[in-house]
Amino acid sequence: MTVNQLLFPPISPLLAAAAAAGSHPAWEIVGVLGAMLFVARFLVQWYATEKQKQVTVPVGFWWLSLAGSLLMLGSGVFGSRNLVVIISNAFNWIPFTRNLVIHYRHQQERQSCPGCALKSPPQARYCAACGTKLSPGGG
Ligand SMILES: [Zn+2]
Repeated sequence: MTVNQLLFPPISPLLAAAAAAGSHPAWEIVGVLGAMLFVARFLVQWYATEKQKQVTVPVGFWWLSLAGSLLMLGSGVFGSRNLVVIISNAFNWIPFTRNLVIHYRHQQERQSCPGCALKSPPQARYCAACGTKLSPGGG
């Protein structure tokens, strides 16, 4: 008995039929590539944390998460038809995409120091580099 048969008895015949029909081996390569991207995100995050000497999640982490997850989802849907792979990757694009939106929105809202052009967080009152008074919120 496979995991699919155990967890999803009503549709396991459909999955078995789809599996018997076979899939293009390219989907397996897509899935492996997706898994490699997904693993690479941990290396990127670890490197960024070691470099900054504090726990940090760089934007590359979210791009690798999104790309890896979508490739694994494609592989699960069109290749292996494995429900574990499909369910594992069917919804996590939502927080990955949301984190990217929030990141780029935050980047856009950063203030540029009139004194030295350093970018500061949206709520900063003073430039960390030169002490010039900033106007958070554009006010
Ligand atoms: Zn400054």
